Amino acid sequence: MSECIFCKIINGDIPANKVYEDDKVIAFNDLNPQSPTHVLIIPKKHIPSVNYIDENNSDIISHIFVAINKIAKEKGLDNQGYRIVNNCGELGGQTVEHMHFHLLGGRQLQWPPG
Ligand code: 5GP
Ligand code: ZN
Repeated sequence: MSECIFCKIINGDIPANKVYEDDKVIAFNDLNPQSPTHVLIIPKKHIPSVNYIDENNSDIISHIFVAINKIAKEKGLDNQGYRIVNNCGELGGQTVEHMHFHLLGGRQLQWPPG
């Protein structure tokens, strides 16, 4: 996936401010933060979106959520509360076609979203 911007971050071809990494996922600060904490958590393996999750690869989802839990605790968000967002496809607002979860925190978030 040579043209994928997040694969380039994984490969180190594009710099990113990493906040977490293990063998399966990395997490880094969003370039255009929407809240005081805005971290993107992505699988190291290229998966375009949640549309591509099935019985064979769904383990990555639980792995990502364990990572989110660790990052939220490290940033002191666990007691304040935070939001996890996944945008899927055009109407869902997905702009980067490498599945990612947004971890947003540090301010009161509104609901419903726009
Ligand atoms: P989406 O709209 O696909 O759910 O979210 C994509 C996110 O990736 C956006 O919040 C955008 O700011 C972020 N983003 C796009 N390109 C880069 C980049 O090169 N580096 C970082 N750190 N974030 C990026
Ligand atoms: Zn990718």
